[in-house]
Amino acid sequence: MKKEIKTQFYDTFVCIADRCSFTCCQEWKIAVDDATYSKWKCLSLDKQTNTSLNQYVMQKDGNRVIALNEHKQCPFLNEQKLCNLVLAFGDDVLSETCSSFPRQVHEFKDRKEYSLVSCCPEVIDFMNQQDAIRFTMNLLEMDEDVLFQIRTMMIAIMQNQQFSISNCVMMLFYILLELNQKKIISKNDIDKYMQESVLKELSEAINKMQFKTLDTFEENNELFLDMVENYRKQDLYTGYLEPIAMLAENLSSEYDEYKITTHLQQFEGQFKMFEKLLRNYIVMDIYTNSLMPESTLENIVVMFQWIAMEYIIIRHTLFLKWLLEEQKSLTYSDVRDYIVVISRMMGYDHEDIYEYLEKSFEAFVWDWGYLALLIGKN
Ligand code: SF4
Repeated sequence: MKKEIKTQFYDTFVCIADRCSFTCCQEWKIAVDDATYSKWKCLSLDKQTNTSLNQYVMQKDGNRVIALNEHKQCPFLNEQKLCNLVLAFGDDVLSETCSSFPRQVHEFKDRKEYSLVSCCPEVIDFMNQQDAIRFTMNLLEMDEDVLFQIRTMMIAIMQNQQFSISNCVMMLFYILLELNQKKIISKNDIDKYMQESVLKELSEAINKMQFKTLDTFEENNELFLDMVENYRKQDLYTGYLEPIAMLAENLSSEYDEYKITTHLQQFEGQFKMFEKLLRNYIVMDIYTNSLMPESTLENIVVMFQWIAMEYIIIRHTLFLKWLLEEQKSLTYSDVRDYIVVISRMMGYDHEDIYEYLEKSFEAFVWDWGYLALLIGKN
């Protein structure tokens, strides 16, 4: 039997349906698999016309998906925020996407890994309540392949609270680039990076570097605008994105350097209050998305860049939101909602990520300096 590794709250997760603050039944692609499509052919919600459920299915970007209504919501979602399909036919009628979300399972040769994605606000609430993300097995004691060991090292470093999130991300990227240069990687090579003395040296080297706050701000702003462009065109997540995207556009043409620098410093204090949640969120992303059954080390490096980019965009959206709200306190619900929106927008489809990187950057794997510019200094 295969080993099973789960995040600690995987088995207890329950969708809260009508009590959810940000339902997943809106504003994105809800896939309809072949088996569900066949099943739906013979089912109807309308006793008079008897029209099949498949009338609500359409093709989008080469996939079969549920056609959303004019409010960009699933047509089966009723006014009480419950699913009409489940009410009429029970849970078995749901497509694979609907019945499994937000769960994710990766099946490797010798093990199965279970996790929950951060696109669901209930998952964020769980993360917010944990001091640190734990797993049903001790990853450090598992004798698995080299890529598994590298991911375990990534999680261990990210969970090391001696170092700020920014330093952890920059240190990890440096380590991954170094490992990616090697032809053969031994367990000793990986263990070396978990030594406190090596990490301290790396962190101190980063602390001594000069970072230009405004260069980081400008690059983050451009990246944010680039990332939201398609969603704005399609009028998705409008309430969340449009006001801050308009502010970002204004700031990209002109801003007061002194004011923005001061605001960035003030925001840092607000953002730090959510450090535990953000660290847990990055750890979950590393566990869930950096290592897939077919991954190579280069795939891990690319996925880690993506995770770092998602974190940077979440931070920037919250900065813009905080500016718009006239620098009042950053609230937990804002932080949770923007983690959900940005996670839903950026997804983790390998093909989409590689396509975006190819279109936007010279190489799939960045220089260390570019990631450092995006992250900037605390
Ligand atoms: S986002 Fe999560 S809690 Fe909300 S409806 Fe979807 S699965 Fe349920």
